[in-house]
Amino acid sequence: MSKQQPAPAPPPAKTPVPAPAAPPPAGTEEKKPEKKEKPKAPKRRIQVWKLYKLEGEKATRLRRECPRCGRGYFMAEHKNRLSCGNCGYTMYTKS
Ligand SMILES: [Zn+2]
Repeated sequence: MSKQQPAPAPPPAKTPVPAPAAPPPAGTEEKKPEKKEKPKAPKRRIQVWKLYKLEGEKATRLRRECPRCGRGYFMAEHKNRLSCGNCGYTMYTKS
């Protein structure tokens, strides 16, 4: 007869431990087309007051008005051209 030591009783499992989610093996991951989101710049509104200069009682326009759109539409000044943002009219000042 051999003396057998009683095996230590396993601690009673009170709460079933959820098996840790195994990470998917490399290479089997579903590849999604990555979307690069650009940080959007806040939309700038044109500051119309900058386009006028008050001289005493009357306001003078600092920009040329668009010949197509007429009053109230100013040409944006670029290096070598003026362009209208409303209709796209472009006037070249220098070649
Ligand atoms: Zn225009």
